[in-house]
Amino acid sequence: MPLRGANINVLLNIKLINNGQTIFMIFNGLLGRQEKKRHYSSLVMLSALLIFSGLTKAKDDSDSQLSILLYHHIDDSTPKITSTAPALFKQHLNYLKKNDFNVMPLNQALDQLFKGKTLPAKSVAITFDDGYESIYKTAWPILKEYNYPFTVFVATEPVEKAYALMMNWQQLSEISNAGVTLANHTHTHAHLLSLLPKQFINEINMADKALDKQSSLSKQFSHTKSLFAYPYGEYSKSITDHLKQDNRYAVAQVSGAVSRYSNPQALPRFSFSGNYGSMEQFKLKVNSVAMPVIQQANYDPLINPSVKSFTLKFDSLPFAKSGFNCFYQNETIDNIEWDQSKVTITISQKPIEGRSRINCTAPASNGRFFWHSIPIFVKPSSGNWPE
Ligand SMILES: [Zn+2]
Repeated sequence: MPLRGANINVLLNIKLINNGQTIFMIFNGLLGRQEKKRHYSSLVMLSALLIFSGLTKAKDDSDSQLSILLYHHIDDSTPKITSTAPALFKQHLNYLKKNDFNVMPLNQALDQLFKGKTLPAKSVAITFDDGYESIYKTAWPILKEYNYPFTVFVATEPVEKAYALMMNWQQLSEISNAGVTLANHTHTHAHLLSLLPKQFINEINMADKALDKQSSLSKQFSHTKSLFAYPYGEYSKSITDHLKQDNRYAVAQVSGAVSRYSNPQALPRFSFSGNYGSMEQFKLKVNSVAMPVIQQANYDPLINPSVKSFTLKFDSLPFAKSGFNCFYQNETIDNIEWDQSKVTITISQKPIEGRSRINCTAPASNGRFFWHSIPIFVKPSSGNWPE
């Protein structure tokens, strides 16, 4: 017997809540034994949702958005937490190819997006932070097979001092000459939030200088000043304001797709290192949809530790409010209050010291998910930011 409308709605609501939890667990890399069990049942529900999704008619605005992928080492022997296995990396690229993703150079994609041109559906940009040797030795040959462009954010002092596992200037020249984009990741890879404005500006300028010097020494070497990546993904509004003045796009390290609503100086990226790189997570992440959150540039993630409430304003609501779920530190946030297209999310505990985030998700059409992360940075009382 066919289901009636009301029944379908009830079913969908139950499924949406469950799927929100699945997403949360996957994004936090928390697939423990108990979670795996629940996760399995959620996957069954996800399949059911796919069948029903045609009935929800959610508008997901998935054109003109970009998923930025973040890697560090592509290596089996480097520290797990910052590494992706070469075989898995290959699987990621293979998935992009097989599913017709449009892999673009990061600066070109961002220019198109923020200068009002449309981006093709399923647009992706690939980035690497720090400038490790495994990019040259392992990732680059694989990327060449797929003919995919990519960007490397280089911390210049570790290259100058020839730290272990870093690319040298010769290797950087070689990939640059082959069309790879090189950009600024500060000079010493400092925690910018522990620095005074003068000092963080100096970090950025010194890396520019080091890269400029290589450009003058080698015709093969070039770099772009329109891109910047925050070490450890840490930033405050005073830092984003400086980069805006400097006319640079800046990439962070919280999850989410980039859309025209994103702050060009605090762009989310999906990390695929350590426990975050499984194929299951990869598919969810590259297929996720940006939430149309407005006025993102007004938010300062460096907060006073007494702040517990965070407000998001939406340009439109392309998802059901009942399917909107947020999570903090492994727990679902119960205190979510809507006021038309504005939502206030209140966490039950004080935000933790150092880096944390609130992840919010909602089902989109075709089994995809809207995703928005709110970064939270609280100065540690010890004065030392975690690595
Ligand atoms: Zn880094």
